[in-house]
Amino acid sequence: MKEGKKKRKPAKIDIFGVWCKSCGICAAFCPTGALGINESGQPIVKDLEKCTGCGLCEIRCPDFAISVDHPVEDKAVTEESGEEGKKRSLDAGK
Ligand code: SF4
Ligand code: SF4
Repeated sequence: MKEGKKKRKPAKIDIFGVWCKSCGICAAFCPTGALGINESGQPIVKDLEKCTGCGLCEIRCPDFAISVDHPVEDKAVTEESGEEGKKRSLDAGK
């Protein structure tokens, strides 16, 4: 049976309104158009499906007012970056 393309897990985007000064940088740097600006000039998640989890908005925000929880695609990556992964890396360095 032919396997279909794996659906990407959406990232989780949090915008902290108290810290946000509505500069619009996050939306301007978002390469996919997942973020937008509402009529009050505040950033909004316009289309979460478009978000690739690249983290550019989080990196560029001067006020740490937006955070992105990156989706974990591959279990192997999780294992490798966990405690077992660290141990394996240390063992390899002996
Ligand atoms: S993580 Fe990347 S794609 Fe997602 S909203 Fe931020 S800049 Fe846009
Ligand atoms: S870059 Fe930061 S401060 Fe500027 S609009 Fe986006 S979340 Fe708000």
